[in-house]
Amino acid sequence: MEKLTMLYEGKAKKVFKTNDEKRYIVVYKDDATAFNGVKKGTIKDKGIVNNKMSALLFKILEEKGVPTHFEELLSDREMLVKAVEILPIEVIIRNMAAGSLSKRLGIEEGKELKETVLEFCYKNDELGDPMINDYHVYAMELATKEQVEIIKEYAFKVNEVLKVFFLERGLKLIDFKLEFGLYEGQVILADEISPDTCRLWDKETNKKMDKDRFRRDLGDVEEIYQEVLGRIHQ
Ligand code: UDP
Repeated sequence: MEKLTMLYEGKAKKVFKTNDEKRYIVVYKDDATAFNGVKKGTIKDKGIVNNKMSALLFKILEEKGVPTHFEELLSDREMLVKAVEILPIEVIIRNMAAGSLSKRLGIEEGKELKETVLEFCYKNDELGDPMINDYHVYAMELATKEQVEIIKEYAFKVNEVLKVFFLERGLKLIDFKLEFGLYEGQVILADEISPDTCRLWDKETNKKMDKDRFRRDLGDVEEIYQEVLGRIHQ
């Protein structure tokens, strides 16, 4: 597959066209941002960790019946994916309170939620990705009712699969963000699944093993990303 012109450059990834119009190549970068781009930095070899981790998790999810854009790992930082049109909705699943939910609702970080929470945000950097609900999705025509039903079903399924997967590797899945795309008219899981997009805490010590190390200046950022990859590759 030939890498052609760059289609898009985001905060953490670049997307290239290929000679097959149904395939893109995603290149994972080391750039890190937080707080809607206010905090900027790099995390050495993060791109490698996120590429390899996403590839592995997408493969597992496919096997469990969740369709994804993942096709093939091409190199340390590159994967071949299906060319999707990303729906402008971020889907957040929460098993335990943390981050913006803790702040907004005054619930202590790490408190177990009696029911898994699903949130939608409108993917719009200028607006700071505001939280929305199903009604906003339909009112703004961001997705159809059928698509929203499928997105919810897949998001909860991803949670069930990943919760078990991470726990077997000594990690608690606190929360995570998913993005979906349309491919040949069907909703499929896209974007990435990595320590940038998941909160992962050590099962025994509750040590934060994710991007919060960068967001909150907790130190050992590079080492922790490598450790997460090491744990899941076992
Ligand atoms: N998240 C993400 N991208 C975003 C916002 C959130 O990947 O633009 C992830 C984040 O890493 C966490 C979960 O979604 O695992 C919930 O994030 P939260 O709403 O608590 O936001 P934050 O605390 O990052 O502002």
